[in-house]
Amino acid sequence: MNNRNRPFSPLIDDEYADSPGRRVLARLQAEKEAGRPAVGIYCCYAPLELIWAAGAVPVGLCATSQKPIPKAETILPANLCPLIKSSFGFIITDTCPFFKLSDLIVAETTCDGKKKMFELISDIKPMLTLELPQTPDYPASFLRWLESVRQMKAFLEKSLNLKITDQDIEAAIKEANQRRSLFLEIAGYARYEPPLITWIELKELAALIGVFPGDEVRSLMLNIIEKLEKRARHNNSGGDRRVRVMVTGCPLGGDAEKVYQVIEELDGRVVAQEACSGLKPLWTNIVEDTSDPLEAIARRYLDLPCSCMTPNTRRWRYMGDLIEKFKPDCIIDVVLSGCHTYNVESHLIKEHAKNELGLPFLKIETDYSEMDVVQIQVRIGALLEMIRT
Ligand code: SF4
Ligand code: SF4
Repeated sequence: MNNRNRPFSPLIDDEYADSPGRRVLARLQAEKEAGRPAVGIYCCYAPLELIWAAGAVPVGLCATSQKPIPKAETILPANLCPLIKSSFGFIITDTCPFFKLSDLIVAETTCDGKKKMFELISDIKPMLTLELPQTPDYPASFLRWLESVRQMKAFLEKSLNLKITDQDIEAAIKEANQRRSLFLEIAGYARYEPPLITWIELKELAALIGVFPGDEVRSLMLNIIEKLEKRARHNNSGGDRRVRVMVTGCPLGGDAEKVYQVIEELDGRVVAQEACSGLKPLWTNIVEDTSDPLEAIARRYLDLPCSCMTPNTRRWRYMGDLIEKFKPDCIIDVVLSGCHTYNVESHLIKEHAKNELGLPFLKIETDYSEMDVVQIQVRIGALLEMIRT
C-alpha cells in the first residue's frame, strides 16, 4: 500500500486494528453466538432501520473480488457487471462467510442483472425481493414502495418469529440518524486542504458502522472526531497542493479500488466518493417522530439517487451538495463493465460537469481484473497533469 494513503497516525485504535473484513466477520460471529440473527443485504435501498428494529444485524453481501468470477461465468454471462458475478461466484463456491452466516436475505428489484441473479440464489436461504419502483417522481411509486417496506417488516416478523413495534422502528431511526450524522461529520474533514482524512480511513470506518452495536460505534466515532480535531490543529499543507478528485459512478471496493490507488499514486487526492460504497447511503437522514415511521423510512429510501431510477434528477442535487462541500478540481466517473444504467448516465454526468459545474471530467470503464491498470494510470495521469498546468 502506498504510504501516502496513510499520512497520519491511525484513526482507528488497536482493538479494531485488523483488516475491516476480518474485524466485521469476528463481530458478526460474536453477535450470532449471542443470539442475534443476521440479515444479508445487497443494496442501499434495503432499510437498515427495520433490521435493527428486529434486533438483527445487517450484513452487506456485495462482493468486490475477481477471484470467484471465472466460476460465476460458468453460469452467468461474462458480460455482466463484475459486482454481480463476484457476489454470485462466492455463493456458488460456498466461500462467502457473510452469506453463510446470514439467516435471511433482503434483495430488491434494482438493475436487471442483480434481480435475475437473485432468482438463482432464492432457494438457498429465506429471501425477500422488495419491489423497488424506478420512477421516483410518480406518487403511485411511493405508495408501491411503502407497500414493499411494510412487506419487509412482515417478512422479518414472520421469519424471526417476533413483533416489531412502531417504538422499535422509531428507536432504530434515531440510532441510524445518529450514526449517519457522525459518519458525515467525519467524512467532512476531507474538505480541508489538504484533506485530513483519506478514502481508506473512511472505508475502514464504513465497514464497522452497520454490524457493531450503537454505543460502541458512537464512542468509536466520537473518538475519531477528537483525533481529526487534533489533525486540524496541526494542519499545514506546506504549499503541497494536490489535485482534489471527486469519484462518481458505480460502487467501488476490493479489486476496483485500483482506481483510488492510481489517483493517490499520481499525487491526486480522493476528497469525495459519490457512489453507494461512499457517501450516498449516508447523505440524508430520516424524519423522526412522525405518526408513521414506516412511511418516513420509505420516503427517505426512495429518494436515494441510484442510476436505476428514471429520471435520476436527485443525483444532480446530491452531486451539487458534494461539490459545494468538498471543492473537487475534477470528476472521475467510474463505471463497472456491464453496468448499463451508470454507463448511460455517465454521458449526463459529463454534460452536467461541463455545462453546469465547469469541472474537468473523465470516464473510466473497468472491472475487477488488473489488466487495465496501466491504461488507467495513463488516462488519470493526463487528466491530473492537465489540471496542474
Ligand atoms: S448502485 Fe444502485 S443498485 Fe447498486 S447498491 Fe447502489 S443503490 Fe443499489
Ligand atoms: S454496478 Fe450497476 S450493474 Fe452492477 S449491480 Fe450495481 S447497478 Fe447493477
